[in-house]
Amino acid sequence: MAKITLDNLAHSYLPKPASEDDFALKELNHDWVDGEAYALLGSSGCGKSTLLNIISGLLHPSQGRILFNDRDVTHAPTAERNIAQVFQFPVVYDTMTVRDNLAFPLRNRGADPAYVAQRVQQIAQMIGMEAELGNKARGLTADAKQKISLGRGMVREDVNALLFDEPLTVIDPHMKWELRTQLKSLHHEFGHTMIYVTHDQTEALTFADKVVVMFDGRVVQIGTPQELFERPAHTFVGYFIGSPGMNLFDAKIDGATAQIAGVQVPLGAGYVPTGGKVQVGVRPEFIKLTAGGTGVPARITRVEDVGRHKIVRLDVDGHEISAIAGEGDSFSADSQTITFDPQGINVYADDWRVAPTGEAA
Ligand code: ADP
Ligand code: MG
Repeated sequence: MAKITLDNLAHSYLPKPASEDDFALKELNHDWVDGEAYALLGSSGCGKSTLLNIISGLLHPSQGRILFNDRDVTHAPTAERNIAQVFQFPVVYDTMTVRDNLAFPLRNRGADPAYVAQRVQQIAQMIGMEAELGNKARGLTADAKQKISLGRGMVREDVNALLFDEPLTVIDPHMKWELRTQLKSLHHEFGHTMIYVTHDQTEALTFADKVVVMFDGRVVQIGTPQELFERPAHTFVGYFIGSPGMNLFDAKIDGATAQIAGVQVPLGAGYVPTGGKVQVGVRPEFIKLTAGGTGVPARITRVEDVGRHKIVRLDVDGHEISAIAGEGDSFSADSQTITFDPQGINVYADDWRVAPTGEAA
């Protein structure tokens, strides 16, 4: 197992990148702590696979270095890095049995046959394919083949890291949950460094100790699920994580007060934002509705009952925002005012969070 260090890493698929826009992966410095389970989360095209393939050695970065336990492996081939990687679509040997597919990485390294038999049995149980061990992979469903790919990724206990690139895309929803649970228990059991790529926030938040959020080729925040919820470092994190995502209000800020839609709003802390676009971010959970109060005027456009609570859609100064209300709440008038719980307020300048004065950076 290994600590993985990314040192000034960046990648462009163009031979002569001219500007930052030409980089699929913008400059990045990061240590992946040995033994941690990470999720790499972001929408399609943001650079997740690029980063993963650089770590595994399928791709060589156009800038910077990659170190395993402080050893430079930037130019080392994939085989030398001792990494297991599982891709979005199945990679199996069709002419081999399920058993031989699973055993392949172990036999390839000359493992003891008795150990191979026992380990393959264990993995087959984890992926729910014990009954098919003797079957040829050819003819199995895409779903079953992907389970084999996952199993092959998990079979070796001595790898430096396990990389998963959206591995559950072709798996049916129930089995998805099951396999994710298995991956988690595998992590508890062996303590491998794991990086799990997904565009699904639920998957990321339930799998990982730490979530690495990417946006447009850049890592915008690395944090625990709670940190991402409470203190999104970038407006994208606020919007992408949460259901519904964080609301953003254009604001003018003077110390501990914001002016939003012409109303003075207390922020609970002082801010000195520098930047063109200043916004106040508040998650729907921290917005309170009152009919005829002194807050920011808002008009209810729709109320969605989602079971445990209600999502109230509002028009504030021409922008749609969302608030979460209790299951039992009812609204007699469309015309409301909204107030914010100061605990749930974050301030952004040009999309990056501004720390309140006095907060350690
Ligand atoms: P993700 O895995 O997050 O969906 P990728 O890392 O695959 O994103 O892609 C990041 C960006 O790099 C995208 O704009 C994509 O079009 C581009 N890209 C990916 N692979 C290649 C390639 N082989 N050649 C050129 N551009 C690529
Ligand atoms: Mg990808």
